[in-house]
Amino acid sequence: MKTFMPSYNSAEELAEIQLKGLQWTVNHAYRGSEVYRAKLDAAGAKPQEIKSLDDLKKLPFTTSKDLAVGYPFPLLSVPMKDVVRLHASSGTTGKRKVLCYTQKDIDDWTHMFARCYEMAELTSEDRVQICVGYGVWTAGAGFQLGCEKFGALAVPAGPGNLDMQMEFLMDFQSTVMCCTASMGLLLAEEVERRGYKEKINLKKMIFGSERSSDAMRDRIRTLLNLSDMYDIPGMTELYGPGTGLECSAHNGIHYWADYYIVEILDPDTLEPVPDGEVGEMVVTTLCKEAVPLIRYRTRDLTALKPGACSCGSLLPRHDRILGRSDDMFIVRAVNIYPGQIDSVLSNLKGIGSEYQVIINRSSGKDMMTLRVECEQGTDPAIHNQKAAMVKDAVKKKLLVTPEVEIIPYGSLPRSERKTKRIIDNRNE
Ligand code: ZN
Repeated sequence: MKTFMPSYNSAEELAEIQLKGLQWTVNHAYRGSEVYRAKLDAAGAKPQEIKSLDDLKKLPFTTSKDLAVGYPFPLLSVPMKDVVRLHASSGTTGKRKVLCYTQKDIDDWTHMFARCYEMAELTSEDRVQICVGYGVWTAGAGFQLGCEKFGALAVPAGPGNLDMQMEFLMDFQSTVMCCTASMGLLLAEEVERRGYKEKINLKKMIFGSERSSDAMRDRIRTLLNLSDMYDIPGMTELYGPGTGLECSAHNGIHYWADYYIVEILDPDTLEPVPDGEVGEMVVTTLCKEAVPLIRYRTRDLTALKPGACSCGSLLPRHDRILGRSDDMFIVRAVNIYPGQIDSVLSNLKGIGSEYQVIINRSSGKDMMTLRVECEQGTDPAIHNQKAAMVKDAVKKKLLVTPEVEIIPYGSLPRSERKTKRIIDNRNE
Protein backbone atom coordinates (compact mmCIF):
# COMPACT_ATOMS: atom_id res chain seq x y z
CA MET A 1 0.00 0.00 0.00
CA LYS A 2 0.98 3.58 -0.53
CA THR A 3 2.50 5.22 2.54
CA PHE A 4 1.42 8.58 3.89
CA MET A 5 4.28 8.80 6.37
CA PRO A 6 6.85 11.57 5.88
CA SER A 7 9.93 10.76 3.84
CA TYR A 8 12.56 12.38 6.08
CA ASN A 9 15.08 10.11 7.76
CA SER A 10 16.58 12.16 10.56
CA ALA A 11 15.88 15.02 12.95
CA GLU A 12 18.16 17.20 10.81
CA GLU A 13 16.11 16.52 7.70
CA LEU A 14 12.92 17.35 9.61
CA ALA A 15 14.51 20.62 10.78
CA GLU A 16 15.25 21.50 7.15
CA ILE A 17 11.65 20.84 6.14
CA GLN A 18 10.45 22.94 9.08
CA LEU A 19 12.76 25.88 8.35
CA LYS A 20 11.69 25.96 4.69
CA GLY A 21 8.04 25.78 5.73
CA LEU A 22 8.47 28.47 8.37
CA GLN A 23 10.13 30.82 5.89
CA TRP A 24 7.40 30.18 3.34
CA THR A 25 4.66 30.73 5.92
CA VAL A 26 5.99 34.03 7.29
CA ASN A 27 6.56 35.34 3.78
CA HIS A 28 3.12 34.19 2.62
CA ALA A 29 1.29 35.62 5.64
CA TYR A 30 3.21 38.90 5.40
CA ARG A 31 2.26 39.37 1.78
CA GLY A 32 -1.26 37.97 1.96
CA SER A 33 -2.74 39.34 5.17
CA GLU A 34 -2.78 42.93 6.38
CA VAL A 35 -3.34 41.74 9.93
CA TYR A 36 -0.28 39.50 9.87
CA ARG A 37 1.78 42.20 8.17
CA ALA A 38 0.93 44.69 10.91
CA LYS A 39 1.68 42.15 13.64
CA LEU A 40 5.01 41.14 12.09
CA ASP A 41 6.00 44.78 11.50
CA ALA A 42 5.13 45.67 15.08
CA ALA A 43 7.28 42.79 16.33
CA GLY A 44 10.12 43.88 14.03
CA ALA A 45 10.13 40.45 12.42
CA LYS A 46 10.45 40.76 8.66
CA PRO A 47 10.19 37.55 6.62
CA GLN A 48 13.81 37.81 5.41
CA GLU A 49 15.02 37.68 9.00
CA ILE A 50 13.88 34.08 9.49
CA LYS A 51 17.19 32.30 8.96
CA SER A 52 16.96 29.46 11.47
CA LEU A 53 14.27 27.65 13.46
CA ASP A 54 15.49 29.59 16.46
CA ASP A 55 14.11 32.73 14.82
CA LEU A 56 10.62 31.39 15.54
CA LYS A 57 11.05 33.12 18.91
CA LYS A 58 11.08 36.51 17.20
CA LEU A 59 7.61 36.01 15.79
CA PRO A 60 4.53 37.46 17.47
CA PHE A 61 1.86 35.20 18.95
CA THR A 62 -1.55 34.74 17.37
CA THR A 63 -4.55 34.14 19.63
CA SER A 64 -8.24 33.43 19.31
CA LYS A 65 -8.76 37.21 19.56
CA ASP A 66 -7.02 37.60 16.19
CA LEU A 67 -9.59 35.19 14.77
CA ALA A 68 -12.41 37.44 15.99
CA VAL A 69 -11.10 40.70 14.52
CA GLY A 70 -11.52 40.02 10.83
CA TYR A 71 -14.80 38.11 11.18
CA PRO A 72 -16.08 36.36 9.09
CA PHE A 73 -12.78 35.64 7.31
CA PRO A 74 -9.98 36.42 9.76
CA LEU A 75 -6.28 36.13 8.88
CA LEU A 76 -7.18 35.26 5.31
CA SER A 77 -3.92 35.23 3.37
CA VAL A 78 -5.11 34.28 -0.12
CA PRO A 79 -7.62 35.93 -2.49
CA MET A 80 -11.19 34.83 -1.75
CA LYS A 81 -11.43 33.21 -5.19
CA ASP A 82 -8.85 30.61 -4.09
CA VAL A 83 -10.94 29.52 -1.10
CA VAL A 84 -12.88 26.30 -1.73
CA ARG A 85 -14.37 25.54 1.70
CA LEU A 86 -14.89 26.92 5.16
CA HIS A 87 -15.39 25.30 8.53
CA ALA A 88 -16.30 27.00 11.77
CA SER A 89 -16.15 26.24 15.44
CA SER A 90 -19.47 26.79 17.15
CA GLY A 91 -20.12 29.85 19.27
CA THR A 92 -22.14 33.00 19.04
CA THR A 93 -21.41 35.40 16.17
CA GLY A 94 -18.14 37.14 16.77
CA LYS A 95 -16.98 34.41 19.10
CA ARG A 96 -17.36 31.88 16.33
CA LYS A 97 -14.11 31.04 14.57
CA VAL A 98 -14.38 30.68 10.82
CA LEU A 99 -11.49 29.08 8.97
CA CYS A 100 -11.05 29.04 5.19
CA TYR A 101 -9.36 26.32 3.15
CA THR A 102 -7.79 26.32 -0.33
CA GLN A 103 -7.84 23.11 -2.37
CA LYS A 104 -4.24 22.48 -1.30
CA ASP A 105 -5.25 22.87 2.36
CA ILE A 106 -8.00 20.27 1.84
CA ASP A 107 -5.54 17.96 0.07
CA ASP A 108 -3.00 18.37 2.87
CA TRP A 109 -5.63 17.70 5.53
CA THR A 110 -6.75 14.60 3.62
CA HIS A 111 -3.16 13.37 3.44
CA MET A 112 -2.71 13.94 7.19
CA PHE A 113 -5.90 12.05 7.90
CA ALA A 114 -4.85 9.14 5.68
CA ARG A 115 -1.65 9.09 7.74
CA CYS A 116 -3.78 8.71 10.90
CA TYR A 117 -5.39 5.56 9.55
CA GLU A 118 -1.95 4.27 8.56
CA MET A 119 -0.62 5.04 12.07
CA ALA A 120 -3.59 3.09 13.50
CA GLU A 121 -2.44 0.18 11.30
CA LEU A 122 -5.58 -0.09 9.21
CA THR A 123 -5.56 -1.84 5.84
CA SER A 124 -7.66 -1.53 2.69
CA GLU A 125 -9.79 -4.37 4.12
CA ASP A 126 -10.98 -2.14 6.96
CA ARG A 127 -14.48 -0.67 7.07
CA VAL A 128 -14.58 2.62 8.92
CA GLN A 129 -17.86 3.72 10.45
CA ILE A 130 -17.62 7.48 10.81
CA CYS A 131 -19.91 8.42 13.64
CA VAL A 132 -19.02 12.12 13.87
CA GLY A 133 -20.81 15.25 12.73
CA TYR A 134 -20.82 16.37 9.13
CA GLY A 135 -21.27 19.99 8.18
CA VAL A 136 -19.88 23.42 8.82
CA TRP A 137 -19.12 22.91 12.52
CA THR A 138 -17.49 19.60 12.35
CA ALA A 139 -15.07 17.51 10.50
CA GLY A 140 -16.78 14.38 9.23
CA ALA A 141 -15.48 15.35 5.79
CA GLY A 142 -11.89 15.01 7.04
CA PHE A 143 -12.52 11.55 8.48
CA GLN A 144 -14.14 10.47 5.25
CA LEU A 145 -11.78 11.96 2.64
CA GLY A 146 -8.80 10.60 4.56
CA CYS A 147 -10.36 7.15 4.77
CA GLU A 148 -11.05 7.03 1.04
CA LYS A 149 -7.59 8.36 0.21
CA PHE A 150 -6.09 5.70 2.47
CA GLY A 151 -8.09 3.07 0.64
CA ALA A 152 -10.35 1.72 3.38
CA LEU A 153 -14.14 1.65 3.12
CA ALA A 154 -15.85 4.71 4.59
CA VAL A 155 -19.31 4.33 6.14
CA PRO A 156 -20.37 7.98 6.65
CA ALA A 157 -22.90 7.25 9.40
CA GLY A 158 -22.92 10.66 11.08
CA PRO A 159 -23.34 11.25 14.80
CA GLY A 160 -25.83 9.83 17.29
CA ASN A 161 -28.64 7.46 16.34
CA LEU A 162 -27.57 4.47 18.39
CA ASP A 163 -30.02 2.06 16.75
CA MET A 164 -28.76 2.85 13.27
CA GLN A 165 -25.13 2.61 14.37
CA MET A 166 -25.83 -0.86 15.80
CA GLU A 167 -27.53 -1.91 12.59
CA PHE A 168 -24.58 -0.70 10.50
CA LEU A 169 -22.13 -2.52 12.76
CA MET A 170 -23.99 -5.76 12.10
CA ASP A 171 -24.94 -5.28 8.44
CA PHE A 172 -21.73 -3.75 7.16
CA GLN A 173 -19.41 -5.53 9.61
CA SER A 174 -17.53 -2.30 10.28
CA THR A 175 -14.10 -2.94 11.78
CA VAL A 176 -13.31 0.59 12.93
CA MET A 177 -15.48 3.17 14.64
CA CYS A 178 -14.67 6.89 14.74
CA CYS A 179 -16.64 8.65 17.48
CA THR A 180 -16.35 10.49 20.80
CA ALA A 181 -15.15 8.37 23.71
CA SER A 182 -18.58 8.90 25.33
CA MET A 183 -20.31 7.46 22.26
CA GLY A 184 -17.82 4.59 22.30
CA LEU A 185 -18.84 3.73 25.86
CA LEU A 186 -22.55 4.11 25.12
CA LEU A 187 -22.21 1.83 22.13
CA ALA A 188 -20.18 -0.75 24.03
CA GLU A 189 -22.77 -0.89 26.82
CA GLU A 190 -25.57 -1.21 24.28
CA VAL A 191 -23.79 -4.05 22.45
CA GLU A 192 -23.51 -5.85 25.78
CA ARG A 193 -27.13 -5.17 26.72
CA ARG A 194 -28.40 -6.57 23.42
CA GLY A 195 -25.91 -9.44 23.36
CA TYR A 196 -24.53 -8.42 19.95
CA LYS A 197 -20.86 -8.94 20.70
CA GLU A 198 -20.59 -12.10 18.58
CA LYS A 199 -22.51 -10.57 15.69
CA ILE A 200 -20.24 -7.62 15.05
CA ASN A 201 -16.67 -7.36 13.82
CA LEU A 202 -15.44 -4.18 15.50
CA LYS A 203 -11.69 -4.14 16.23
CA LYS A 204 -10.64 -0.55 16.75
CA MET A 205 -11.98 2.81 17.82
CA ILE A 206 -10.63 6.28 17.06
CA PHE A 207 -11.78 8.89 19.57
CA GLY A 208 -12.11 12.52 18.52
CA SER A 209 -13.14 15.80 20.14
CA GLU A 210 -13.03 14.44 23.67
CA ARG A 211 -10.22 13.03 25.76
CA SER A 212 -10.65 9.35 26.62
CA SER A 213 -9.51 8.21 30.05
CA ASP A 214 -7.72 4.92 30.58
CA ALA A 215 -10.65 3.75 32.69
CA MET A 216 -13.09 4.42 29.84
CA ARG A 217 -10.86 2.58 27.41
CA ASP A 218 -10.53 -0.40 29.74
CA ARG A 219 -14.30 -0.59 30.04
CA ILE A 220 -14.86 -0.33 26.28
CA ARG A 221 -12.09 -2.83 25.56
CA THR A 222 -13.63 -5.37 27.94
CA LEU A 223 -17.14 -4.95 26.59
CA LEU A 224 -16.22 -5.10 22.91
CA ASN A 225 -12.99 -7.10 22.95
CA LEU A 226 -11.26 -4.42 20.86
CA SER A 227 -7.66 -4.75 19.78
CA ASP A 228 -6.89 -1.04 19.99
CA MET A 229 -8.15 2.48 20.66
CA TYR A 230 -6.60 5.81 19.71
CA ASP A 231 -7.14 9.47 20.52
CA ILE A 232 -7.13 11.74 17.48
CA PRO A 233 -6.28 15.36 18.32
CA GLY A 234 -7.31 18.37 16.33
CA MET A 235 -8.85 21.81 16.25
CA THR A 236 -10.61 23.75 13.53
CA GLU A 237 -7.88 26.41 13.52
CA LEU A 238 -5.31 23.77 12.59
CA TYR A 239 -7.17 22.06 9.71
CA GLY A 240 -9.39 20.01 12.06
CA PRO A 241 -8.95 16.57 13.62
CA GLY A 242 -6.28 14.34 12.13
CA THR A 243 -3.13 16.35 12.88
CA GLY A 244 -1.63 13.44 14.80
CA LEU A 245 -2.43 10.06 16.31
CA GLU A 246 -1.25 7.70 18.99
CA CYS A 247 0.67 4.71 17.71
CA SER A 248 0.06 1.22 19.06
CA ALA A 249 2.78 1.78 21.68
CA HIS A 250 0.30 4.21 23.34
CA ASN A 251 2.98 6.38 24.77
CA GLY A 252 1.89 9.78 23.53
CA ILE A 253 0.50 11.19 20.31
CA HIS A 254 2.73 11.39 17.25
CA TYR A 255 2.09 14.74 15.61
CA TRP A 256 2.72 15.62 11.99
CA ALA A 257 5.80 17.78 12.46
CA ASP A 258 6.33 18.09 8.72
CA TYR A 259 3.06 20.09 8.61
CA TYR A 260 3.36 22.17 11.76
CA ILE A 261 5.75 23.10 14.54
CA VAL A 262 4.76 22.58 18.17
CA GLU A 263 6.13 24.70 21.00
CA ILE A 264 5.18 23.98 24.61
CA LEU A 265 5.30 27.22 26.56
CA ASP A 266 4.62 28.38 30.07
CA PRO A 267 1.26 30.15 29.64
CA ASP A 268 2.33 32.97 31.97
CA THR A 269 5.88 33.72 30.87
CA LEU A 270 5.47 32.38 27.29
CA GLU A 271 8.93 30.84 27.62
CA PRO A 272 9.52 27.18 26.64
CA VAL A 273 9.10 24.61 29.42
CA PRO A 274 11.58 21.70 29.58
CA ASP A 275 10.67 18.56 27.57
CA GLY A 276 8.26 16.44 29.57
CA GLU A 277 6.74 19.35 31.49
CA VAL A 278 3.19 20.54 30.94
CA GLY A 279 2.58 23.83 29.16
CA GLU A 280 0.42 25.43 26.52
CA MET A 281 0.69 24.05 23.01
CA VAL A 282 1.57 26.77 20.50
CA VAL A 283 1.49 25.83 16.82
CA THR A 284 2.96 27.27 13.63
CA THR A 285 1.86 25.83 10.29
CA LEU A 286 4.37 25.11 7.52
CA CYS A 287 2.26 25.00 4.36
CA LYS A 288 -1.25 26.18 5.23
CA GLU A 289 -2.37 28.63 2.56
CA ALA A 290 -5.76 30.18 3.32
CA VAL A 291 -5.25 30.83 7.03
CA PRO A 292 -1.66 30.15 8.07
CA LEU A 293 -1.04 30.08 11.81
CA ILE A 294 1.98 31.80 13.29
CA ARG A 295 2.62 30.85 16.91
CA TYR A 296 -1.07 30.26 17.52
CA ARG A 297 -1.86 29.82 21.22
CA THR A 298 -4.16 26.79 21.29
CA ARG A 299 -4.91 26.91 25.07
CA ASP A 300 -4.46 23.12 25.01
CA LEU A 301 -2.24 21.83 27.78
CA THR A 302 0.16 19.00 27.13
CA ALA A 303 3.84 18.07 27.32
CA LEU A 304 6.38 16.98 24.73
CA LYS A 305 7.53 13.39 25.06
CA PRO A 306 11.31 13.28 25.05
CA GLY A 307 13.24 10.52 23.31
CA ALA A 308 12.36 8.08 20.54
CA CYS A 309 9.17 6.02 20.46
CA SER A 310 9.46 2.24 20.67
CA CYS A 311 7.45 1.99 17.42
CA GLY A 312 10.43 3.41 15.52
CA SER A 313 8.57 6.38 14.02
CA LEU A 314 10.63 9.55 13.68
CA LEU A 315 7.54 11.69 14.15
CA PRO A 316 7.82 13.51 17.49
CA ARG A 317 5.22 13.03 20.22
CA HIS A 318 3.25 15.07 22.68
CA ASP A 319 1.26 13.72 25.60
CA ARG A 320 -2.49 13.29 25.59
CA ILE A 321 -4.22 16.66 25.90
CA LEU A 322 -4.60 17.28 29.62
CA GLY A 323 -7.33 19.84 29.01
CA ARG A 324 -7.68 23.35 27.77
CA SER A 325 -6.46 26.11 29.98
CA ASP A 326 -10.06 27.40 29.71
CA ASP A 327 -11.26 24.12 31.31
CA MET A 328 -9.11 24.62 34.36
CA PHE A 329 -11.00 25.22 37.56
CA ILE A 330 -9.72 26.49 40.86
CA VAL A 331 -10.76 24.91 44.14
CA ARG A 332 -9.34 26.43 47.31
CA ALA A 333 -6.54 28.10 45.33
CA VAL A 334 -5.51 24.84 43.65
CA ASN A 335 -5.56 24.70 39.83
CA ILE A 336 -7.21 21.51 38.59
CA TYR A 337 -7.54 20.20 35.02
CA PRO A 338 -10.17 17.59 34.14
CA GLY A 339 -7.41 15.37 32.73
CA GLN A 340 -5.82 15.14 36.18
CA ILE A 341 -9.02 13.73 37.65
CA ASP A 342 -9.25 11.22 34.77
CA SER A 343 -5.76 10.05 35.49
CA VAL A 344 -6.24 9.70 39.28
CA LEU A 345 -9.48 7.72 38.85
CA SER A 346 -8.06 5.57 36.03
CA ASN A 347 -5.38 4.30 38.36
CA LEU A 348 -7.83 3.06 41.00
CA LYS A 349 -9.25 -0.44 41.03
CA GLY A 350 -12.91 -1.34 41.39
CA ILE A 351 -14.46 1.91 40.21
CA GLY A 352 -16.07 2.69 36.86
CA SER A 353 -15.00 5.17 34.23
CA GLU A 354 -17.85 7.63 34.75
CA TYR A 355 -17.77 10.46 37.22
CA GLN A 356 -18.98 13.98 37.90
CA VAL A 357 -17.26 16.78 39.73
CA ILE A 358 -19.63 19.16 41.48
CA ILE A 359 -18.25 22.35 42.95
CA ASN A 360 -20.26 24.45 45.37
CA ARG A 361 -19.44 27.37 47.60
CA SER A 362 -20.94 27.60 51.05
CA SER A 363 -20.05 30.24 53.64
CA GLY A 364 -17.18 31.40 51.46
CA LYS A 365 -15.60 27.97 51.19
CA ASP A 366 -15.27 25.85 48.03
CA MET A 367 -16.56 22.31 48.29
CA MET A 368 -15.67 19.72 45.68
CA THR A 369 -17.87 16.64 45.49
CA LEU A 370 -16.94 13.70 43.33
CA ARG A 371 -19.69 11.33 42.28
CA VAL A 372 -18.06 8.19 40.97
CA GLU A 373 -19.66 5.07 39.54
CA CYS A 374 -18.43 1.79 40.92
CA GLU A 375 -17.59 -1.20 38.77
CA GLN A 376 -20.44 -3.27 37.38
CA GLY A 377 -21.59 -5.84 39.96
CA THR A 378 -20.04 -4.14 43.02
CA ASP A 379 -21.60 -4.97 46.39
CA PRO A 380 -23.10 -1.71 47.77
CA ALA A 381 -21.76 -2.74 51.17
CA ILE A 382 -18.25 -1.74 50.10
CA HIS A 383 -19.22 1.66 48.62
CA ASN A 384 -17.89 3.43 51.72
CA GLN A 385 -14.59 1.66 51.42
CA LYS A 386 -14.29 2.71 47.75
CA ALA A 387 -15.21 6.28 48.66
CA ALA A 388 -12.41 6.44 51.19
CA MET A 389 -9.96 5.13 48.59
CA VAL A 390 -10.99 7.77 46.02
CA LYS A 391 -10.87 10.55 48.61
CA ASP A 392 -7.40 9.55 49.67
CA ALA A 393 -6.05 9.30 46.10
CA VAL A 394 -7.48 12.67 45.06
CA LYS A 395 -6.14 14.33 48.19
CA LYS A 396 -2.66 12.93 47.55
CA LYS A 397 -2.50 13.83 43.85
CA LEU A 398 -4.47 17.07 43.64
CA LEU A 399 -3.99 18.41 47.16
CA VAL A 400 -7.70 19.05 47.56
CA THR A 401 -9.88 16.85 49.76
CA PRO A 402 -13.19 16.12 48.05
CA GLU A 403 -16.43 14.68 49.35
CA VAL A 404 -16.83 11.37 47.54
CA GLU A 405 -20.05 9.61 46.76
CA ILE A 406 -19.91 6.16 45.16
CA ILE A 407 -22.98 5.41 43.07
CA PRO A 408 -24.14 2.28 41.24
CA TYR A 409 -22.77 1.39 37.82
CA GLY A 410 -24.78 2.99 35.01
CA SER A 411 -26.40 5.72 37.12
CA LEU A 412 -24.67 8.75 35.60
CA PRO A 413 -26.01 10.05 32.29
CA ARG A 414 -24.39 8.67 29.12
CA SER A 415 -23.90 10.90 26.10
CA GLU A 416 -23.62 10.43 22.36
CA ARG A 417 -21.44 13.52 22.25
CA LYS A 418 -19.10 14.91 24.86
CA THR A 419 -19.93 14.04 28.43
CA LYS A 420 -20.25 17.01 30.80
CA ARG A 421 -18.33 16.04 33.91
CA ILE A 422 -17.62 19.31 35.66
CA ILE A 423 -20.57 21.09 37.25
CA ASP A 424 -19.47 24.35 38.79
CA ASN A 425 -22.30 25.94 40.77
CA ARG A 426 -20.27 28.79 42.20
CA ASN A 427 -21.25 31.51 39.76
CA GLU A 428 -24.97 30.94 39.79
ZN1 ZN B 1 5.15 5.44 18.32
